[in-house]
Amino acid sequence: MKYDVTIIGSGPGGYVAAIRCAQLGFKTALVEKYPTLGGTCLNVGCIPSKALLDSTEHYHNANTHFADHGIKVNGLTPDLKQMIKRKDEVVKMTTDGINYLMKKNKVEVYQGVGSFIDTHTIKVSGEQEQTLQTDKTIIATGSKPSTLPFIEIDKKRIITSTEALQLKKVPEHLIVIGGGVIGLELGSVYARLGAKVSVVEYLDSLIPTMDRMLGKELKRVLGKLGFDFYLKHKVTAVKSTARSVTVTADSPKGETIELKGDYCLVAVGRQPYTAGLGLENIDLSTDKAGRLEVDDNLQTKVPGIYAIGDVIRGAMLAHKAEEEGIFVAETLAGQKPHIHYHLIPAVVYTWPEVAAVGYTEEQLKEQGRAYKSGSFPYRALGRARASMDIDGQVKVLADKETDEILGVHIIGARAADMIAAAVTAMEYRAAAEDVARMSHAHPTYMEAVKEACLAATANRPIHI
Ligand code: FAD
Ligand code: NAD
Repeated sequence: MKYDVTIIGSGPGGYVAAIRCAQLGFKTALVEKYPTLGGTCLNVGCIPSKALLDSTEHYHNANTHFADHGIKVNGLTPDLKQMIKRKDEVVKMTTDGINYLMKKNKVEVYQGVGSFIDTHTIKVSGEQEQTLQTDKTIIATGSKPSTLPFIEIDKKRIITSTEALQLKKVPEHLIVIGGGVIGLELGSVYARLGAKVSVVEYLDSLIPTMDRMLGKELKRVLGKLGFDFYLKHKVTAVKSTARSVTVTADSPKGETIELKGDYCLVAVGRQPYTAGLGLENIDLSTDKAGRLEVDDNLQTKVPGIYAIGDVIRGAMLAHKAEEEGIFVAETLAGQKPHIHYHLIPAVVYTWPEVAAVGYTEEQLKEQGRAYKSGSFPYRALGRARASMDIDGQVKVLADKETDEILGVHIIGARAADMIAAAVTAMEYRAAAEDVARMSHAHPTYMEAVKEACLAATANRPIHI
């Protein structure tokens, strides 16, 4: 078969690229090695983790907050088996939805491992081997969990996020290596169900790449949920037996600590995945971090071969991969698309949620840029008091001279949805005063953003 564009990998980068290519009139093929479409995000990432976060949040609220709201519950018990079953149903519904979208857009799907024979020929090794001729190719093969050199992931006691999404029993003590997004989201799932969760983090802050205020506040709130944190600790060994796991780490004072639990979740980042692609057949190699190098058009050094998503530089986020899929499809169609990487938001789906866009205060200091900062606490919001979600705050950073918003950092209820408004304001290069002068419905959590803008623009918040 001959195609205009062939895409290898059906995650949010690949399947979105396929839809956009088809919309633009290209004859398009999508190659996926697994039987279900949707990649990491839909199968073992964004969607299943959020399904479990939602279920456990309901349980946690029923267990701890319902009584304050005047709702009495007797005999409340979590049913992990049902939570996992529901999560699997959500995944199936979502991945089936991608099959539907491929059919609707007339994208031809091939199941099997895609590899290059040469620049214009791709072999699909599946139940039966097939060869595709293609004019252009988009590599969207994503990433896989990283580990540390001395850790052997046995997938039973020493696990990655994939196994953590399907545990049969709530751990008594879950030890998490890495205080980043995965560690805190999946740690929250089990902490809410009663597990003791210990997080060992190498750096001096949780979610260390985000604004410092966020990690500090999240540590305080998750501490209340029962998390123990071992910051600035260097893990030196992880050993498992049939029933337990032992993690050894060096404390900042040089003491050795030993944590014993029933599972150890290794969540120290992810690495690009290119195994089996046959890159050597097209004279393409990866950089030291395993990434495919691309130019400003996301084209590799081989003309006609593009790469997007987790397999290239930048944030490993589903919405970043999607934007890149659309970017390449439109570039191939002769359009002039643009991605504003600086305005791709980041979200952590703990409760309260964490969401941010733009520069952190630490980055602005490093740049020596003159800025103003305005903050507003959730506890001063009528809406937050009504729902009893009083933990959190909004911080807005703006240019000292022009008042242009440079960064918005939120920890609090519904932050994940609120950050879109900050992205919109920043895409249009709004000043803090612009947002401060817009009417925000009352009572809403978004009023905290308006108030933080008032604080940043002229230090005149109304409600504190
Ligand atoms: P992937 O989704 O990894 O897809 C790559 C696909 O390529 C896979 O299906 C793979 O099987 C296939 N493939 C690889 N090699 C071949 C080959 N040779 N032939 C055929 N097929 C091949 N991001 C967010 O933005 N929000 C979240 O809430 C979020 N939550 C996450 C939770 C977890 C637990 C994890 C692990 C990740 C999460 N992420 C989240 C990150 C997100 O999943 C990734 O950034 C995103 O999936 C990257 O998309 P991609 O298309 O680049 O690659
Ligand atoms: P991460 O980069 O978010 O966090 C890894 C953490 O591990 C960091 O805090 C890092 O300092 C720490 N670490 C690294 N080496 C260590 C060591 N030797 N000992 C102790 N700590 C160590 O990575 P992750 O949580 O594994 O997630 C992987 C990717 O998946 C991320 O890039 C993220 O963007 C994506 N993801 C996104 C979401 C979301 O958008 N909500 C959710 C899950 C995953």
